[in-house]
Parts: sequence; C-alpha cells; structure tokens
Amino acid sequence: MQKSQIIRSEPDEHGHWGRFGGRYVPEILVAPLEELTEEFTRARQDNNFWRELNQLLRDYAGRPTPLFHARRLTAHAGGAQIYLKREDLLHTGAHKINNALGQALLARRMRKQRVIAETGAGQHGVATATVCALFGLRCVIYMGAEDVRRQALNVFRMRLLGAEVITVNAGTRTLKDAINEALRDWVTNVHDTYYLLGSALGPHPYPLMVREFQSVIGREAREQILSATGKLPRALIACVGGGSNAIGLFHPFIADERVRLIGVEAGGHGDSLGEHAARFHTGERSGGGCIGVLQGTMSYVLQDPNGQIATTHSISAGLDYSAIGPEHAFLHDNGRAEYISSSDSEALEGFELSARLEGIIPALETAHAILPAVRIARESTRDDAIIVNLSGRGDKDVQLIADLQR
Ligand SMILES: *Cc1c(COP(=O)(O)O)cnc(C)c1O
Repeated sequence: MQKSQIIRSEPDEHGHWGRFGGRYVPEILVAPLEELTEEFTRARQDNNFWRELNQLLRDYAGRPTPLFHARRLTAHAGGAQIYLKREDLLHTGAHKINNALGQALLARRMRKQRVIAETGAGQHGVATATVCALFGLRCVIYMGAEDVRRQALNVFRMRLLGAEVITVNAGTRTLKDAINEALRDWVTNVHDTYYLLGSALGPHPYPLMVREFQSVIGREAREQILSATGKLPRALIACVGGGSNAIGLFHPFIADERVRLIGVEAGGHGDSLGEHAARFHTGERSGGGCIGVLQGTMSYVLQDPNGQIATTHSISAGLDYSAIGPEHAFLHDNGRAEYISSSDSEALEGFELSARLEGIIPALETAHAILPAVRIARESTRDDAIIVNLSGRGDKDVQLIADLQR
C-alpha cells in the first residue's frame, strides 16, 4: 500500500479503497447511484450546502458536542487521561443525526419527496423520521420483525414523528433483511425516492458520504483535545457496527500516524460463527470474517464456508451486523487502524463503569469501547490522552439491562 494512499484514505472515483468498497448492485440502481454521486460531489464543493448543514448541526442537533475529561474513569484506569466525545448529547441521542441531516439536505437538493431507510435497533430510523419531519418529507422505515419486537419504543417514536414503519418478515427478520427490502423499494420508486442509508456501508457513494457527514466528530475532537492538552492524543477508541461513528472520529486523524486508531467490534458470547459480530476475527479456529460482497459493497463479511451470510449475535442491536464498512476493511489491511472485540459481558461491565464512575449511561454499543479504553489508558502514561467516542446514550437499553438483572 502506498503511503500517500493511506494518509489520504480517499477512494477512487468508483468508490474503491484498495480492493474494498465499489458498487455491486443490480443494473437498475447504477444510474440513481451515479446521480447521487454527482449531487453529493457538487454539494461537497458548495459552501452554501455546508453553511446550511453546519447551522442545523448547531441549532437543531446541538453541536459542537463537548469533549469531557473523565477524571474518575481516568483514576480507575491509572494511566492516560481519558476524554469522552459526547455524541450522546445530540438530539435523538446518538451520532446518527449528523448523517441524517446531511443526507436529508441532499434529498431536498435532488427534489425527492419521499425518503426510505432501514433500521436495526431503531436509532437510525428515529434519526431519519426526525429529519423528515423537519423537512416535511414522507418517510418510510423498514425494520425486521424481530427488531420491531425488541425495540418497540423506537417504533413508537418513529410513528409519533410521522413515519410509516414497515415490518419485514423475511429471512432472520433483522437488519440485513430490512436493508434488502429498502433496496427493493428503491429499485421500484427511484424517481421520487431518496434512500437514506445509516452507516458507512452499502454501494458507492454511501460509505464516502456517510464518512464525510460524520467527520465533524473528529474535526471537533481534534481541535478540542489540542486546546485541552496542547498535543494530539495517543489513541482514539470507538465501537464499530457498520463503522460510521468510528470513521467519523478517525478520519481527521488519519494522517497523524502516531495516533492509534482502535475500533471495537462486538465479540458477542463466543468465538464460533453466529455467536459474535467481529468481522475481523480472522484466522482463528472458527468463525471469522472473510472478504466478500454484502449489500452492494466489498468488505469483510461473516459468512459460512459456502458463502452464505452468517447470522450474528451481539447484546447491542447496533453492532449486530455481518459486514463492516469498506474503509475500515482498508484501514485494517494496511495496518493504519487496529480492531479488537469486546464480549457481551465486557460491554455490560463497561456500561456499569461509565454509569457509576461518570454518571453517564451509555448505549450498549458504546459500552463495548469502555473496557478497552481503560486497558489502553493503563498501558500509557499520565501525560498522554485518549479519546473514546461516546456514540450514544443508553436510555434505549435500560429495559434490557433491567431484564438481565432480574
Ligand atoms: C447505530 C449505533 C452504533 C453503530 O453504528 P456505526 O455506524 O458503527 O457507528 C454505535 N453506537 C450507537 C449509539 C448507535 O446508535
């Protein structure tokens, strides 16, 4: 891998980071994806677009989010200073609104009246329903039947916001089935419909576009840590589902080669295929990911020896997905970023630490990053700092925790 390529981490014009990414879609979607790419490219160079987006991020979503020095967690770790990037304080409770606002502005530029989206835990569905209400757009959310059952509160929130929630009964009745249905809808209705994808996944230009909308996290964090400590942090740590909150934090630091970039996948409750969602868990005796195509992009995918997409497990619905965003696959293979995993029980322990030591109840997704952060802080000195992306708040998970404690 050439160094300049690592540092820029820009995909080529077809959306490839090395061998990853691209656009593996039915022919009927090629033209709409090209149209979207052109509009995004224009918007990306348009100061008015960014001015409007930044104003919404500030006045509607609540940016900039604070970078909080977690003193008790730091003392508990006994090493580097731990800072939390507080995306949990945003409107709707997670980083997802950053991307939803950016793409809703694009939908409006493209004069699409109808927006569709997929959702697993419901967080992206809620963010999408929210921005559609804000812009007066019709909103249809696809959600697997199993997730509708597990996340009833978010389904209710989406409906309150005026969205139509369509329950998907195909396959394992979870996120990947919801994505398939959303793509099917898009194929049929492209003339008036915008597909608002929720993570750094899917066919080009989505992984690039979502990264650009989420990079506001890293840009703010870089400025904030420099002003708090006078130097760059030793490491950045973020949980990785599709990879949007992690790439949003990492991206503005990619050229800073001394800053470690650490993504945390869901280790679930075992090493075998079906028991986790750790796509980079390769080369072990059993179930790891290998390179393949899922939902329009080439990346690491959890699949069985016959190439069938494997089921996954995580205590957090937001990390429970068989594929990872292509830019992460690229950063993994060229060694710029490191990927580790936390098990369900480690996530629960991290959840409790954050609540008890800092008074912050994190989303279970986010909670996967807490114990690794403590470990990495412990390996570093007190003059170093590390940043953890506090991707979302945990209100949505409180019932699940209560059930576990019963
Ligand atoms: C959706 C979600 C995630 C996982 O998605 P990414 O695209 O990997 O960021 C992580 N944390 C929270 C709070 C989420 O809602």
